Amino acid sequence: MWRRPILQRLIAFSWFGILAVAAFAFEPPSAADRAKALGSLENEPAVLQRLLTPDEDFAPLRTPGPGDWLTSHPERGQTFDGYCTVGFNRPTTSRNVIYLLPLGEFPADNSPPLEDLRVYAEAYFQLSVKILAAIPIDEDKFTPRINDYTQKRQLCSMGIINFLKTQLPADAYCLLGVTMDDLYPSPLWNYVFGQASLKSRVGIYSFARYDPAFFGDKRSNDYRQLILQRSCKVLAHETTHMFGLPHCIYFECLANGSNNLEEADICPHQLCPVCLRKLHFNVQFNPVTRYEELARFYHAHDWDDDARWTDRQLAKAK
Ligand SMILES: [Zn+2]
Ligand SMILES: [Zn+2]
Repeated sequence: MWRRPILQRLIAFSWFGILAVAAFAFEPPSAADRAKALGSLENEPAVLQRLLTPDEDFAPLRTPGPGDWLTSHPERGQTFDGYCTVGFNRPTTSRNVIYLLPLGEFPADNSPPLEDLRVYAEAYFQLSVKILAAIPIDEDKFTPRINDYTQKRQLCSMGIINFLKTQLPADAYCLLGVTMDDLYPSPLWNYVFGQASLKSRVGIYSFARYDPAFFGDKRSNDYRQLILQRSCKVLAHETTHMFGLPHCIYFECLANGSNNLEEADICPHQLCPVCLRKLHFNVQFNPVTRYEELARFYHAHDWDDDARWTDRQLAKAK
């Protein structure tokens, strides 16, 4: 369940999280619940009304399976009206840049291209995104260990969060550390994909586990596209939290929680009408420009399904 304020969020849990016993069973929302979550659109501009009206492009949330996020974390969701009445960070004229700070090396064969991540985040959030000069891994600061299962080096995400707090540029809306090192939040945990402090506006995300070779699996011919898709997805998902969006329980949506890589892979790249309305309310972007820029990215990278989906949204806006 989402409670405010949640200042420290752990992203994608180890099996300790998966085994958590649910206090109540999750009930998939009804059509009436989804309509209530979206709220009345009558005061929104006509174009936004057309883009936010649920249709076949927005699938209702599937019933979660035994290992899925909502089975072990039965969240209650947050309506658009609920979002508007709680406090959340929001860009200002003097703090409006999303910074990406690479920590350590980004080897070409297993890393997402940072410039692609930058362009994607800029389109997704309609804010300026800048890449800072990479900082080498400081083994004294980040408490490395060797993971028992993978036999690979991991860094302590908590130490990185504390470091990032000291690196926040004056005009930053948020500072997102990115790394190809695997992460762990505390000695009891197996791993995390990332961790963030919403109050301090910093987060750290690892892309280490997105290459099939990390687990000793065979890479497909298009594995580099898979790495980019997974990395863009986690970057966009976690950055929505930076704008105060909790997990979505209404539609299949980028903002859905996920327990593991398999569930994250099912998650769409797109925001549902409820979550898009929240992000728009916060950032106040032009939704057509946003879809145009996303469509350009999807076409350029041959993400065919997303390109077609986004083209359909642009057709609706006309
Ligand atoms: Zn999340
Ligand atoms: Zn959503």
